[in-house]
Amino acid sequence: MSVLEKISSAEIIEIENKYGAHNYHPLPVVLSRGKGVYVWDVEGKRYYDFLSAYSAVNQGHCHPDIVDALINQAQTLTLTSRAFYNDKLGYYEKFLTEYFGFDKVLPMNTGAEAVETALKICRKWAYEVKGVEEHQAQVIVCEGNFHGRTTTIISFSNDENARKNFGPYTAGFVKIPYDDIDALEQALSSTKNIAGFLVEPIQGEAGVYVPADGYLSKAKALCEQYNVLFIADEVQTGIARTGKLLAVHHENVQPDVLILGKAISGGVYPVSAVLANDAIMNVIKPGQHGSTFGGNPLAAAVAVAALTVVVDENLAENAQRLGMIFREQLAAYIKTSNIATLVRGKGLLNAIVINDTEDSETAWNICMRLAHHGLLAKPTHGNIIRFAPPLVMTSAQLDDCIGIIIKTLQEFER
Ligand SMILES: *Cc1c(COP(=O)(O)O)cnc(C)c1O
Repeated sequence: MSVLEKISSAEIIEIENKYGAHNYHPLPVVLSRGKGVYVWDVEGKRYYDFLSAYSAVNQGHCHPDIVDALINQAQTLTLTSRAFYNDKLGYYEKFLTEYFGFDKVLPMNTGAEAVETALKICRKWAYEVKGVEEHQAQVIVCEGNFHGRTTTIISFSNDENARKNFGPYTAGFVKIPYDDIDALEQALSSTKNIAGFLVEPIQGEAGVYVPADGYLSKAKALCEQYNVLFIADEVQTGIARTGKLLAVHHENVQPDVLILGKAISGGVYPVSAVLANDAIMNVIKPGQHGSTFGGNPLAAAVAVAALTVVVDENLAENAQRLGMIFREQLAAYIKTSNIATLVRGKGLLNAIVINDTEDSETAWNICMRLAHHGLLAKPTHGNIIRFAPPLVMTSAQLDDCIGIIIKTLQEFER
């Protein structure tokens, strides 16, 4: 038995604060076990998990099929590097590309790495296929974006906290307002050097901003018209979260480049991927991109199992159905509420907006009370609380959770 098992939440928090960099501000809850939609803290208190590790755990905590795949593969072969072939990667690549309808995949480990990979592929495509003059390629991004934490990615963030004092920044990005098709057309027509348009189908971190119906399909059509790659970052919205396998499927859009991470492994192991067709992916030749862990056999086995669960358990349909109920019931409550002003989202990626200033503590305090009542959620930006439970939730469990959320909001009505 480990020493840690005997100590309290308060002591564990103290150790983390002392020995760990303070790059997060967690809710003061120390989790030690998870199963399906539930997690337990070290004192044995049970919570509904309404963050799902930022939508990595769509399949539920410790899904037995995914854990089995991990254990079996871990006992067989874990890492060879891409210096050699391994007997799992090719099968995974065939499975994944058929699953999402692309010719090829480039396997990586984290979401940010996959975004970096997509940007590199996009630039190379611009120079070698589209014919943009060297060093001139521009990628259009959206205000309020979240694509990860690398130096290049934070270069085009407009979250000051994420950017400040990390410069000099990477050049080659044009920022436009999100959900503004005219701004996109203007940016596309302003120069011949646009290589791609990088977009989240719903802006998750920014506060679950759902664009107008038709935004994604119009944006895709404009990208085609201007010979620009439509790059969908579905790291958070993908893998059934919004009620379809991909959020772009709500508008029947097939991106030119698809970025996946998080739930592609069900939260069991870091796995990410970039998918594209040959005309784009073939710009990458040996030695031009890579990763020691990318495409390792453990990741391949885990991802196949995780994606199989999504289909076998109809997670997209379940997210679609439960999401409707969630928004309907919360909207009905909010009509009579002073503390919450709005519920929005798609499938089981939802948020409520709290009626207070951006820098107020109210959303945080509500999350503390939600935790007290056995439900874990976290504010995204200031006064917005995201609700994203595992997609294996049942109707009865959701009813229970809606009860907890309404009861908690009632404590804050004024
Ligand atoms: C989480 C996230 C990323 C970054 O993924 P990491 O695995 O944390 O690097 C990128 N894009 C979106 C939309 C995300 O939600």
